[in-house]
Amino acid sequence: MTDTIRPQPGILDIALYVAGDSKVAGVDRPLKLSSNENPFGPSPAAIEAFRAAAGSLHRYPSSDHAGLRAAIGAVHGLDADRIICGAGSDEVITLLCQAYAGPGDEIIHTEHGFLMYRISALGAGARPVAVPERERVVDVDEILAAVTPRTRLVFLANPANPTGTMLPEAELARLADRLAPGVLVVLDGAYAEYAAICDGAVALATTRPNVVVTRTFSKLHGLGGLRIGWGYGPRAVIDVLNRLRAPFNLSTAQLDAAEAAVRDRAHAAFGVAENARLRAWLAERLRALGLGCDTSQANFVLARFADAAAAAACDAALRGQGIIVRGVAAYGLAHCLRITVGTEADCARLVAAVAAHLGAGGA
Ligand SMILES: *Cc1c(COP(=O)(O)O)cnc(C)c1O
Repeated sequence: MTDTIRPQPGILDIALYVAGDSKVAGVDRPLKLSSNENPFGPSPAAIEAFRAAAGSLHRYPSSDHAGLRAAIGAVHGLDADRIICGAGSDEVITLLCQAYAGPGDEIIHTEHGFLMYRISALGAGARPVAVPERERVVDVDEILAAVTPRTRLVFLANPANPTGTMLPEAELARLADRLAPGVLVVLDGAYAEYAAICDGAVALATTRPNVVVTRTFSKLHGLGGLRIGWGYGPRAVIDVLNRLRAPFNLSTAQLDAAEAAVRDRAHAAFGVAENARLRAWLAERLRALGLGCDTSQANFVLARFADAAAAAACDAALRGQGIIVRGVAAYGLAHCLRITVGTEADCARLVAAVAAHLGAGGA
């Protein structure tokens, strides 16, 4: 009986996404450094806008998101007609896969790439293709070598999660310009604001017919709980995605809070500056403790241990201290732990706990 009711091919190949842990048994308020959340929370103006939206819950929200798109366009210097908003950038990624790939098609992501690319590819019935990275850095030549006549989309995050590494804009341009016609490259800029070396590639998406960027309110803007993201790209692509998008995919509370958040540039600038300062300190302390740590352009660092067992032991020791970091075995990095940059006090507490563990012979 049950095997006559079957989902579309590919769906059962999806491994359920496991979010960053938020609980430790017996600990009241653990220090959560597992989901790259902004330790300072959202702009007070965003919280106020969210509260104010309670007064109009009986009204349908805007379906064209004109207010939010105009705000994003003004702040980032972009044409608002080329922006689409979604319930997190996850939704924009899903729409891209559904619109541009299906059974028989291939979607390229990289070795340690964000798991949502594979999930969304399978959800569209397409085949996800993983290409190698070079020492935790995306390799444009490997991507180009993996392209076949069936390739429809290439996903890469810049800065990447969970490695924190990044390609310069010239490399992204080389990728876009060498890809076969008909292959769309999606540059996931979830951490773009935190990067010192690239502007989030919006210039590329402005000038190339085959480049889309995605962005989110979940990280720097501190609104992960509210689910808002956006994409920017060629008008024709945005038009296609809008046809597929549910008309009321974002609530009034989401739209209003996001608009207030993007307009609060001082709050964003503070978050970027604190992150840059503490990210450098954290990486330096971890290296001083003998751990490998690439230079991160995001709001987390990836600590490398001798092997998977050493990483797991440190993870367990941190949990014992009420600190939750992210094991990244699902990303092919079982010997690493991803650690979100918290406040100065959070970072100090994390480093002290790692040092105590390693000093006790935990290396
Ligand atoms: C966190 C993250 C996102 C954001 O997803 P939302 O759905 O916008 O919360 C997108 N891409 C990457 C690589 C991320 O790490």
